[in-house]
Amino acid sequence: MSETELMQQEIDRLRTQVKALKSRNQLSQNYYYSDAAQKNWLDITHIPENGITPEAAQIIIESVNGLDFDYRFNTSSYVNVFLEKEERDIALLGLHVNMADQTVYPNSYKLHDTVVNMIANLWHCPKPDDFDDYGVYAGAGTVGSTEACLLAGLALKFRWRAWYAKRKNLTGNDVLGTRPNLVISTCFQAAWEKLFKYMDIEPRLIQPSVDTFTLDPEKVREAIDEHTMGVVCIMGNHYSGHYDPVEQVNEVVEEVNAARGYQVGIHVDAASGGFIAPFQSNLRPWDFRLDNVLSISTSGHKYGESCCGTGWIVWRQREDLSEHVAISVTYLGGNADSYTLNFSRPASGVYVQYYQLIRQGLSGYQQCCDNLMQNAKFLREGLKAMTYRGKPRFTILDNGDTECLPVITARLNPDCDISYDDIDLQHVLSQYRWYVSGYRMQYEHPLSRETLPLFYDQAGQTSMFRIVVKSNLTRNVAKKLLESFRSAFEFIDPLDFSKLHGFKTENLRHQDQRITNHC
Ligand SMILES: *Cc1c(COP(=O)(O)O)cnc(C)c1O
Repeated sequence: MSETELMQQEIDRLRTQVKALKSRNQLSQNYYYSDAAQKNWLDITHIPENGITPEAAQIIIESVNGLDFDYRFNTSSYVNVFLEKEERDIALLGLHVNMADQTVYPNSYKLHDTVVNMIANLWHCPKPDDFDDYGVYAGAGTVGSTEACLLAGLALKFRWRAWYAKRKNLTGNDVLGTRPNLVISTCFQAAWEKLFKYMDIEPRLIQPSVDTFTLDPEKVREAIDEHTMGVVCIMGNHYSGHYDPVEQVNEVVEEVNAARGYQVGIHVDAASGGFIAPFQSNLRPWDFRLDNVLSISTSGHKYGESCCGTGWIVWRQREDLSEHVAISVTYLGGNADSYTLNFSRPASGVYVQYYQLIRQGLSGYQQCCDNLMQNAKFLREGLKAMTYRGKPRFTILDNGDTECLPVITARLNPDCDISYDDIDLQHVLSQYRWYVSGYRMQYEHPLSRETLPLFYDQAGQTSMFRIVVKSNLTRNVAKKLLESFRSAFEFIDPLDFSKLHGFKTENLRHQDQRITNHC
């Protein structure tokens, strides 16, 4: 080997050493002073060769998280964002516990059952005959309302199939050729779209009036036929917080069943209302007090005040309902049922829900509900008082201060003749860090994918917005939100949006008129 070659070899060896030292050194370096700070971590497509320090990984994720909207100013979603320190501790504890392992964690599973029982009683579920065998009502903890709605839908579907096969004298196989339908308002949440698509169920959609946002019981009567597996009533539709008239729908269902020999039942989607309605006075019965209500679902992580990823379903009974979706687990000693669509999941949601129920008690939930309604009222009054050239700035669309969710739904008053719409307003408000969602009064049909108007008496192009009041939207924060609305108007009023949209609000009004006249 020549001298030059030897030197080259030595240089290569040293280079490798330096590289190794550097990468080791990096492990003890502050992220900001390491090479890692020069790397674009967001756009990597492959798992990196070597790891980084825990501190660096945390900083990278936290800096991404910081670029999102602040969860405290998100008035668009119903999902709870406030957790006490103790709740965070037990949520972390729950991350180690897999709820699917009922044999390993029987005590944690007992907490799950205890929550099911407390909620079943909150909703006046009659005690099932087999309660002593199971020690729990027919119900389950789920990952939010979506899983709960899917389970409810499946139970109704299997129940209908058995009934239809018997009625028509069909074999189990024959009946598979007929698709059942589910009656629901066009104000359904996306969870139901999943049911229709994934579980092959026909949506029988009823358009409400923009004046009520709710099911017309007479239209429910017309919609029910032999293939109807159930009717969904929404306790607090997410657009406006109105409650579907469950009591009247219950009467209609009772009459139809009696007249035509059907066995149609009701599922109440109380994603948001499940923990609000029980604390509102003068409310007509909406829960298991009504005979045809077969199941109720709720999002524990909405007004149940649990952490994200918590939901609940309760069935009136096991027989011909929850048993259709139950997987029996007998190796525990005694009976145990598993209902969930997926298997493994952390116990965090169960722990935090249980914590909330015993920590707040009924009086705590009552106080929380009262605060929410009062703060919603404060915001609603504030928006109502705002004017533009002597006219009210907003048309309020929600149900007002009682018998609904703590939500303010409104649209910019079309009589103001302004060139921007509610969605432009959303964007301007975001300059003040608020996330107030604006949207059009339309939905996509779950099967045909057509975009259709939500309401029979309002053009689909019309926009609206909503402000969801959650426990963290306290009075002083609400006051700031009203100030931000005022600042937003100061900024937006002088601007001309007409060229941006390709239509003027004026035209939209004419369109509204046409549709109203037509109906
Ligand atoms: C939020 C909501 C759902 C879906 O709930 P997740 O908990 O997000 O899965 C279903 N129905 C209604 C009426 C809702 O408001």
